[in-house]
This record gives sequence, C-alpha cells and structure tokens, in this order.
Amino acid sequence: MAADTLLNDFELPFQLYDVLGTESLTEHAKFSEHSRETFDAVLETANKIATDLFLPHNHIADKNEPQFDGKKVSMINDVKVAFDAFRESGFIAGRYSFEDGGMQLPETVMTAVAGYFMAANPSTTAYPFLTTAAINVISHFASDDIKAAFMPRMLTGEFTGTMALTEPHAGSSLADIKTIAVKQDDGSYRVKGSKIYISAGDHELSDNIVHLVLAKVPGGPGGVKGISLFAVPKYRLNDDLSVGERNDVHLTGLIHKLGYRGATSTALSFGDEGDCHGYLIGEEHFGLRYMFKMMNEARIAVGFGAAMIGYRGYQYSLDYAKDRTQGRIAPNNKPEDDATAIIQHGDVKRMLLAQKAYSEGGISLCLYGSNLIDRINTCEDETLKNELTELLDLLTPVLKAWPSEYGPKANDLGIQVLGGAGYTREYQAEQFWRDNRLNPIHEGTNGVQ
Ligand SMILES: Cc1cc2nc3c(=O)[nH]c(=O)nc-3n(C[C@H](O)[C@H](O)[C@H](O)COP(=O)(O)OP(=O)(O)OC[C@H]3O[C@@H](n4cnc5c(N)ncnc54)[C@H](O)[C@@H]3O)c2cc1C
Repeated sequence: MAADTLLNDFELPFQLYDVLGTESLTEHAKFSEHSRETFDAVLETANKIATDLFLPHNHIADKNEPQFDGKKVSMINDVKVAFDAFRESGFIAGRYSFEDGGMQLPETVMTAVAGYFMAANPSTTAYPFLTTAAINVISHFASDDIKAAFMPRMLTGEFTGTMALTEPHAGSSLADIKTIAVKQDDGSYRVKGSKIYISAGDHELSDNIVHLVLAKVPGGPGGVKGISLFAVPKYRLNDDLSVGERNDVHLTGLIHKLGYRGATSTALSFGDEGDCHGYLIGEEHFGLRYMFKMMNEARIAVGFGAAMIGYRGYQYSLDYAKDRTQGRIAPNNKPEDDATAIIQHGDVKRMLLAQKAYSEGGISLCLYGSNLIDRINTCEDETLKNELTELLDLLTPVLKAWPSEYGPKANDLGIQVLGGAGYTREYQAEQFWRDNRLNPIHEGTNGVQ
C-alpha cells in the first residue's frame, strides 16, 4: 500500500458490512432507496476527492498557515479548491433527506465518508465538518424562519458554520461564560462578548459564516441553565434573504497552534459597536441542552478523526519500515549479507502492531457508535429504542475519549518507527502527531469525558 493511499481496500468494507451489517439498514423505509452499491459508490467518491484534492496539500497547509492582515484572512488556494469539491459533491447534506436536497444516507456511511477526509487532511476538513455540525443543531431546534434563512445555503456550503462556545476564561466550565444577548423592544437580540479558539471562525471560503454562539440573556437563571443559543451571521441577511451588510462580529486575531494549522483558529469579538444581531435558536436558556443533545455525532466525529489520523500514521510508518534497512538478522547476519528491512525487527513489529490495534480499534468503536445512531433512528420497538439510546449515551464519552487518547499514542509510535527521520519536518510523521494532539483537548477534554 502506497503512503498516499488513505485506507486499504478491505478495512472499511470489513467494518461496515461484515462486522456491522450496514446494508441491512436498507430494509428500513428511510434508506430503502439505497443498496450496498450506492453506499460503495459514495465511499469511492469520498476516497477519490480526499485523495486527489485534500491529501496533496495537507503538508503544504501545515507549512503555510492562514494569515490575517487586519482586514481579511488569506490561505493557500488548494483549500478553496478542496472545499468547493467537497460541497459540490453534496457531502455536506449527505445525511439529510432527499426533500432537503440531501442523499438520505445512514450515519454509519457518513462517518465512513468522513474517515477518508480526516485521514487525508484534518485541517481543510474542519471547514465543511463544522458546517455540518452547525446544521445539525439548526435543523433540530431552530424556528422555521431561521431554518429558511440559513439551512439551504449551509447544506450547499455557500454558507459555512461554527460552534462558538469557548471564552478566554471559560473552556470546560461553560456555566461561567460572560457573552450576553440583550433582547430589544422589537424582540430581536444584540450579542456582546468575546470567544476564543473558534475553528473556521473567519475565512473567505464561503459567502457567509453562521456562528452558533452561546450567550446569557440578562435576568436568566445562573449557571448552565441560563445559557441560550444564537445564530450570529458574519453578514446580516436582507428581507429577501440575500446577503446584506456586515454584522458587528470581528476577527481579533488568529491563534497559532501546535498542529491542525491549516484550519483557522480564531479569537472573535461580538458587538464592539453595540450592533451584533443574533437570532435565538429555540427557547431562551435551553442553549447548552440543545448543544449537548447534538454532541453524540460531534464526539463520534472527533474520536473517528483521531483514529483515522492514527491509521494514516500507521500506514506511513509501515511503508517506511518496509523500505528502511538496518542491521542483519540471523541466519543472514554476516557483514556481506544484505541489510534487513526494519520491519523484520521484533521491536518495530511491536510498534506497528500497536498502531494497527489502536487505530483499527478506534475505527471499529466509532463505526459501532454511528451504527447505534442509525439503529435508534430506525427502531420501531420503543423498549429496544430506549435500550439502544441508553447504550449510546453511556458510550458517547468513550467514543470520543478512547480513540483520541490512543490515536496520538499511535502517531507517537509512528515517529519512533521512523527513528531520527520521524523527528524531522522533512517527514510527515510528526505532523500526524501534532494534528492528532488536539483531539484529547477539544469537544470536551478527555479528563472531563
Ligand atoms: C485547536 C482548537 C480548536 C478549538 N475549536 C473550538 C471551537 O470551534 N469552538 C469552541 O467553542 N471551542 C473550541 N476549542 C476550545 C476547546 O473546546 C477548549 O480548549 C476545551 O474545551 C478546554 O477548555 P480550556 O482550553 O479552557 O481548558 P480548561 O477548561 O482550562 O482545562 C484545563 C485542564 O483542566 C481540566 N479540567 C477542567 N475542568 C475540569 C473538571 N471539572 N474536572 C477535571 N478536570 C478538569 C481539563 O481536563 C484540562 O486538562 C478549540 C480548542 C483548540 C485548542
């Protein structure tokens, strides 16, 4: 297997069909228009776009981070080309219904699709994936007006989305956020506050960016019960829903990170001029509950991404170990014998097998979690549905934390397999580790899980 192949040919089919029996989902009305052939065609397209357009600039984007000149964010053009191909493929709307313009695909298949992109280039993948996460919240909890304003163009990727929770003083403890949203006489809200680390918080890839912002409405209950959720677009919409004037939300700076460097990480300021329009999602004070209800998919995505970066590091170091020669193994250990490939050494085998176990175990675990979501969504027996839901709730922190703990461990072993080369920036092993090191931290630290 070449180093630029994202997954070997049998890994996903084995997990999807032999282990999980994913094609049996097509017996349910929701997925009846699909078959193993349509699932495979979707996966093949994902593999092709990820390999052709995401993979080649993974390392280039790492070395050429996005820049902010005080007015606009710029980045290498490859990101835009890849993002456009992703959105034109329809993957942003992949799990949504045919009526919404989606492909009505099972969560299990969409998780597998995500795997190719996470393995190829986690940074560029952040832009469409955060949009998907934001759509997930809007589609479940927003009013019809807000859905009509934002969802259709988010589903096509004309608008992108963010999740703006964290503040400089409040990360794990969101109860302490200080951002406020003040209700106006006409029923609208003005948002004021600062958010930090917001991924994909500014860029020129889309016509608009819809931030999902946690804020407190003054006078509400204290702690997590007083947190509300607002859609805050970078550009306001005119009455005919066309993109209008700039909203009062500003990029105050880009954050420079250990890894995941191709994705903008932003410090954002809302309402500096007192005129940041926010649109309430659902009811006041239920914001955190809405966010957490949608966390299953987001946490599985983080765990799966960690497993996939682990898997890519494994494949990369496996290739290296087959080519690199050092020493001689008996009986061919005479000085004139050919040096042996390091893959023959017991300790290198140990490191490769550990990477394989960590990453394939993580892949299997997360696909199982996604399959639980599909089974819950298609289950007609209430008792079984409740049992499956309880199992998913129990497993969700594990689905996020186990692969994101062991994915970076796999990448650490990948560096070790390359020896000194693993420690240099001429090889990508160190980038895999740096990119993956985020996963135990975001989407709820592993300690908190
Ligand atoms: C690259 C990157 C991208 C990010 N993207 C986003 C984004 O798009 N949107 C967004 O809103 N946020 C984002 N974040 C923020 C991320 O979610 C937070 O960094 C994370 O929630 C942790 O918060 P913190 O950094 O304030 O750490 P802290 O909360 O200060 O935690 C520090 C340490 O204390 C531990 N700790 C804290 N509380 C407890 C507790 N109760 N029990 C036990 N241990 C505890 C933690 O586990 C951790 O080890 C991103 C962060 C990074 C680095």
